[in-house]
Amino acid sequence: MSSSTRTTVRQLRADVAAICLPKGRKVGSAGHKKARKYLTARLEEIGCEPYTGDSYELPYQRNSIAFYNVVGVVRGNNPKLPPLLVGAHYDSVIAAPCADDNAAAVAIALATAEHAAANGCLERDLVVAIFDAEEPPHFRTNSMGSERFWHDQLDGRPIHAAIIMDLVGHDVSIPGSMLGHIPLIGGLLEKIPGLANRDIALPLLHSLVFMTGTESHPELAVALDAAGVASGIKLVPTLNRCIGDMSDHGVFRENGVPYFFLSCGHWEHYHRPTDTPDRLNYKKMARITRQVTSLLGALDTQALRRSGGKERVCDTLDLEVLYMRRAFGPLWGMLLKRAGLTQIQSRKDVNRLVKNIQALGL
Ligand SMILES: [Zn+2]
Repeated sequence: MSSSTRTTVRQLRADVAAICLPKGRKVGSAGHKKARKYLTARLEEIGCEPYTGDSYELPYQRNSIAFYNVVGVVRGNNPKLPPLLVGAHYDSVIAAPCADDNAAAVAIALATAEHAAANGCLERDLVVAIFDAEEPPHFRTNSMGSERFWHDQLDGRPIHAAIIMDLVGHDVSIPGSMLGHIPLIGGLLEKIPGLANRDIALPLLHSLVFMTGTESHPELAVALDAAGVASGIKLVPTLNRCIGDMSDHGVFRENGVPYFFLSCGHWEHYHRPTDTPDRLNYKKMARITRQVTSLLGALDTQALRRSGGKERVCDTLDLEVLYMRRAFGPLWGMLLKRAGLTQIQSRKDVNRLVKNIQALGL
């Protein structure tokens, strides 16, 4: 590990530990307030300015409940340009640490802000948006933090492009019961008792990171190409419609903001008390930090002609196939075969392949 990676890992660990309180960060709880205070202190320490007014906390009320988005800005060289946004939610679904959901993504958002502030390399402002109330019962309601930010709290400038993260702290794994479908290691199922009931992180798959949104603007493929893939992770771009608006990117997609949404998907600890800091892969998180940093750098200089606030869906078929083939490597042939395909020729083929990959528990 290089010394800069070591420093990133140390900070990611510290941020996750600070907001993963034993009783969680449910809206209205003492942990929610404590996490919020920590996040505002971190934004200040990083050198962010408040997004609007004189506070990082952007409060709103719904049904007599008080909510708070926490938003700062790393100033770019030209604040007149539409800003970039990096975002993640900080509330927890249950009264438990909820490390992967979503302390990991919050820590990565802070780390990218820290990098931008320290290097001063962005032309545009970088809005660091730590959203409240993403979890049920607020999900996709008018109390959801990202919805309120978009509808009530924007500073009047359009958002150039957004990167949203959720569930980005864990190794991608597959349910043990699915191992039978993987050549060579399927035989382990009979040999190791209890394996079928566990999630297994396979060497070929654990570093996967799924990404949607490349289809939201024709120039995003160019930005992705310029950013490249950070070493040590395998990026799998796919259409948002394959997974749905499972997080805060929904409101940006609907309103025509070019976006990338990054996630490692669900795992066995999803929404459970066992989603704890010790189960995260901090090295993978440091690599995702590098990925987001390079995406922000590429988006910063990429002209993105606006679509007048309307959602776009571009054709990214060739790009998806290229990245998937690279990401799955030696498993590619097996995955095609399982889906009953010899090669990918159409959107229908990709849909079939993605459905098959999802059926493996990924
Ligand atoms: Zn969640």
